[in-house]
Amino acid sequence: MTRRGMLQGLLVAGLWNALTERGQAAPPQVKDMKGIQQMQNNWKTYLAESFKAPLPSEALKLSKDDWRKRLSPAAYSVLREEGTERAGTSPLNNEKREGVFACAGCDLPVFTSAMKYESGTGWPSFFTTIPGVFESKTDYLLFLPRTEYHCKRCGGHHGHIFEDGPQPTGQRWCNNGVALKFIPKTGKA
Ligand SMILES: [Zn+2]
Repeated sequence: MTRRGMLQGLLVAGLWNALTERGQAAPPQVKDMKGIQQMQNNWKTYLAESFKAPLPSEALKLSKDDWRKRLSPAAYSVLREEGTERAGTSPLNNEKREGVFACAGCDLPVFTSAMKYESGTGWPSFFTTIPGVFESKTDYLLFLPRTEYHCKRCGGHHGHIFEDGPQPTGQRWCNNGVALKFIPKTGKA
């Protein structure tokens, strides 16, 4: 290869990297499943110091009436009745600060900011989760089977898992924004 050809190759590679990074696929630190595991194990480094995170095993069970008092009507519809918010309506779509996304029903941390990516769907999307925080089941609400997932601590419905996410997990955890609250690592919520 000529020197000129090599330089051109480097330029193209640089441009490609710049473009793919702007497209917000998986962040560069997660090249393989080992990187994903590290990200899952290190989730507490994204937690604000003042935030007392509950455990998935500390079950929160409330009556329908108590949930209605605790949640906004929009959050109640999603978390307790498996509703779906309108695409593009959640302010969390544009949340890019460092921190943790917790269940809006019970404060259980479920994702870190490092697990989020821009899927272009209009719902906050994640390629993996904090381990052990969700349970899932198959639902048939749209005739075709879909994998629904819900919070292990309070049972609140969050969204659906699809298989068109970025590598290396290939997962898209499509989450209703209203089912989440963002806790920035530093600064105000
Ligand atoms: Zn919950």
